[in-house]
Amino acid sequence: MTQAPTEVTGGAVDGLAALEAGGSVAETFGIPLAVLAELTHRCPLQCPYCSNPLELDRAATELSTDEWKNVLSELAEIGVLQIHFSGGEPTARKDLVELVRHATEVGLYSNLITSAVLLTRDRLRALHDAGLCHIQVSFQGIEPEAADRVAGMRGAHAKKIEAARWVRELDLPLTVNAVMHRQNLHQLPGIIQMAVDLDADRLEVANVQYYGWALKNRAALMPTLQQIEDATRIVEEAVVRLKGILAIDYVIPDYYALRPKKCMGGWGRQFFNISPTGRILPCHAAETITGLHFESVRGNRSIAAIWRHSDAFNRYRGTGWMPEPCRSCDFKEIDFGGCRCQAFALTGDAGNTDPACTLSPLHERIFKLAETEAAGEADRFIYRNFKGGTPETDGGQDI
Ligand code: SF4
Ligand code: SF4
Repeated sequence: MTQAPTEVTGGAVDGLAALEAGGSVAETFGIPLAVLAELTHRCPLQCPYCSNPLELDRAATELSTDEWKNVLSELAEIGVLQIHFSGGEPTARKDLVELVRHATEVGLYSNLITSAVLLTRDRLRALHDAGLCHIQVSFQGIEPEAADRVAGMRGAHAKKIEAARWVRELDLPLTVNAVMHRQNLHQLPGIIQMAVDLDADRLEVANVQYYGWALKNRAALMPTLQQIEDATRIVEEAVVRLKGILAIDYVIPDYYALRPKKCMGGWGRQFFNISPTGRILPCHAAETITGLHFESVRGNRSIAAIWRHSDAFNRYRGTGWMPEPCRSCDFKEIDFGGCRCQAFALTGDAGNTDPACTLSPLHERIFKLAETEAAGEADRFIYRNFKGGTPETDGGQDI
């Protein structure tokens, strides 16, 4: 898992509309068309902005091959069309080819979201032969030494470039995911060119969103306002220049936004993901919110019933839960009050207005905090790992 875009645009069916119309969401058309399957939290990289929870699921607790196959079959039965295999690093699962084949057999379009450092040419071919439809490779930058430092693994960047070329040799569609922050935003023009050179179809320029590991590393990652303004201009120019060559998605950091993003298309409206141990979550960072109980595929309820009835999904669905200023705001059905994980991270209450919104009483304070951190000297990372994080030493971590 890298930092996936948290705006869900296009294609997803609106489950809440069906709920509000009194229809049967689970049995009709409310189930999301695409689901993210986090197969494992294991990963050879240690990115300081990883969106996995601070408390990572251990290998021994992961769903087994048969459990994942049952999940895939159930998803296909209830109307899901696309499965995104993610993690952690999904290729750390020895049964990945088997799971991709099963997804193909039950009629799911499959996408692999990977750091690519564990891929070999043979394994990639096996995934292709098993029916894999698309690959997204994450990059930490274009300067190998700097990128390897962010990843916490020597040689990672070179492996990614090699694997991305294999993807295109197999004629698989390729998306490049580049997570951007203060320490690599100056590389953005080079990253756009790298995506073109790799013959990628799509580039996701994903500014870090600050929860989980990224919140822990915020002072070392927060960009300056000037960097964001420059990046926006660079992306806007590239979108026009590369029309028909490279599609570019751009997610700006919330702290500098005027209004919050429609996070996940709205809580419990268009998306869910499944954690390595089988918990069904409204977004990949939802477990950062303490006090919510997320039901598991290992329980007694079907996935469709969890989607429709679980307290965790219904708690922030729609607009009824909203406090002021959202409650009487014209935008409440456009952004659904922003991101619940961010509201929790910054205010301690997931039920508050996302402070990314200028109408939040906390917005000014958040904006100033971002400016102060961006101007600060902190640049050392706390690396993501199962030990609860390891501070970077002067020589870097594991590199
Ligand atoms: S450590 Fe990096 S590559 Fe691994 S799951 Fe997290 S963000 Fe993805
Ligand atoms: S007040 Fe709430 S609904 Fe209105 S723009 Fe801000 S976050 Fe969105």
